[in-house]
Amino acid sequence: MNTTSLESRDTQNTPLTSSPVKQQRLSIRSLIAETLELALKNSRLFAQPLAPFTLHGETFQLPRFLLVGPQGGGDYLRIGIFAGIHGDETAGILATLHLLDELRRQPELATGYEIFVYPVCNPSGYEDGTRWSRSGKDLNREFWKGSRQPEVRQLEEELKGLHFHGIISLHSDDTSDGIYGFARGSSLTRHVLEPALAAASVELPINHGPVIDNFESENGIIERRCYQGILGAPPEAHPRPFEIVFETPQLADHDKQIRSHVLALKSILAHYRTLISVAQNI
Ligand SMILES: [Zn+2]
Repeated sequence: MNTTSLESRDTQNTPLTSSPVKQQRLSIRSLIAETLELALKNSRLFAQPLAPFTLHGETFQLPRFLLVGPQGGGDYLRIGIFAGIHGDETAGILATLHLLDELRRQPELATGYEIFVYPVCNPSGYEDGTRWSRSGKDLNREFWKGSRQPEVRQLEEELKGLHFHGIISLHSDDTSDGIYGFARGSSLTRHVLEPALAAASVELPINHGPVIDNFESENGIIERRCYQGILGAPPEAHPRPFEIVFETPQLADHDKQIRSHVLALKSILAHYRTLISVAQNI
């Protein structure tokens, strides 16, 4: 796929006059064009964008893709992968599209899974190249507190309605020199995150510092602590899904970050399935 670089900026898109942002805008239409095309030809991959909404006079839409793997032993496990809630963290955004392409080519990697992918959770921020949405909000501080931000409300509906077994959020952190992750939700989470970090460390080192992003951490894992209002399962969800926030060092090589995200995601899919089948046989 040609999604490895950001060179495909859409020059024919909306003129910049209405935007306060000086830099050239990125286009979601260009970003996902190839994945949309693949979905048309593939029986396992579906394009299911969320409803359009208006923000400061401009219409935006959150893309969503569903990949259905071959049937496994039991019921399908439902995973949600969320990227780009911070619009300028492009490695995770591109990684989700690469993952879909890999799973399309090798569907056995997705055996037993329904995988819902939200590549760009903050479309205006992505187009503007900013962490914040066009409303000036950090959307990843707005969840489950009655936010009126349309992106947050739509994602909350998804998180409530789809009852995910696992929720993975992809981020990049410009203050970290290595990969790390937050383990939240189910007590299984640590056992899914550990091998994911190991797999991703082929591309980028793990941040072994005792404190990352102001939180105590161990071997690149921050457990049971994080910011308030981040994208995650509804507070009342029971049983708790596994919840992973995976972070790459934003200043590192962009392609390495993308590959690191993809390796982590594939590892999570492989290990969670194994953990669940072992647990069911006990
Ligand atoms: Zn982020």
